[in-house]
Amino acid sequence: MTRPPVLLTPGPLTTSDETKRAMLVDWGSWDSDFRALTAEVRRHLLAIAGGTPEHAVVLMQGSGTFAVEAAIGTLVPQDGKLLVLVNGSYGRRMAKLTRQMGCALALLEVAEDQPITGRAVSQALATDAEITHVGVIHCETSTGILNPLTEIAAAVQAAGRALIVDAMSSFGALPLDISALPAVAVIASANKCLEGVPGLGFVVTETAALTAAAGNSPSLSLDLTDQWRYMEETGQFRFTPPTHVVAALAQALRDYADEGGRVARQRRYQRNCAVLVDGMAGLGFVPLLPAALQAPIIVTFHAPRDPAYRFDALYQALKRRGFIIYPGKTTEVESFRIGCIGHFDETVMREVVEAVAGAISELGLHDLGPAVAS
Ligand SMILES: *Cc1c(COP(=O)(O)O)cnc(C)c1O
Repeated sequence: MTRPPVLLTPGPLTTSDETKRAMLVDWGSWDSDFRALTAEVRRHLLAIAGGTPEHAVVLMQGSGTFAVEAAIGTLVPQDGKLLVLVNGSYGRRMAKLTRQMGCALALLEVAEDQPITGRAVSQALATDAEITHVGVIHCETSTGILNPLTEIAAAVQAAGRALIVDAMSSFGALPLDISALPAVAVIASANKCLEGVPGLGFVVTETAALTAAAGNSPSLSLDLTDQWRYMEETGQFRFTPPTHVVAALAQALRDYADEGGRVARQRRYQRNCAVLVDGMAGLGFVPLLPAALQAPIIVTFHAPRDPAYRFDALYQALKRRGFIIYPGKTTEVESFRIGCIGHFDETVMREVVEAVAGAISELGLHDLGPAVAS
């Protein structure tokens, strides 16, 4: 039997056999065993986020965006205003959903290969007294750039506003402590660095903020306060839970602890990333970002300037060799992306580099430098 392709994508990603096997049981949503599993997952996530008894984890059915929309729609009051920090497509998505919910919005936008600085945030907040909250993407997965969260949080705190962090593609691997930042909410999902399967997002937030936000949400299914209250009272989801996804995440979180928690996971991803970047550089590929801005989550490479290059041909040649890569998502340059996260290590990453070498020779690509000067 040939092994199914390894996903080098930032979620859904490659999961372990144990995590997949955890989905072979059908759970009743009201059953006490499933409620215990739900409680176990919430406890684990709270600990990973650096939460205290003043924080709660609210699980939300759906992909990560559902949790972002729930957090913003509930925690930003109707007379509030959200400043969204944008340097990529997930920032743009946060702005779009904020606007669509009818919430007042301000934007601080910089180029996709530039991080957002604390100084720029301070300046933006000084010029607009109506802003109550700031939304930031920790690792902007569309390029792989890391935004300096500590510095941004300090600027937000100094200006007396509240910070909402989309930590979707960094949670569980990169350092993040909701109490130390501080942030009013940190949002992530099951299917990224925690190596669970897709179908569940979550928000770690201050319970006081949840209480104060009662009645804010313009949506029933995405009402974070209502979801939290019901979960606290009954131990259950309000509406049908993604039972198999919760069971898979419970298993993935046990494996996470066994591996050595966040530090071990970060190290594994850093090794994956270093082997990838070095190996690809050896072949002649150039990453979009300098090493100092690169998070060990996903790497964007400039598309080769060779006129014979087609993304789809490279994709198919790599798929035949057992690896699934990702198209580029930058608006500024042509690129492709290779993820460093998922249940695999640097040995697999060496095979990836070999597969890329085989693919470029099969496709007859010679001129692998970027089409634009980087
Ligand atoms: C994956 C991701 C999301 C959520 O995207 P979905 O497609 O809804 O899962 C949001 N923000 C970031 C930074 C992400 O990487």
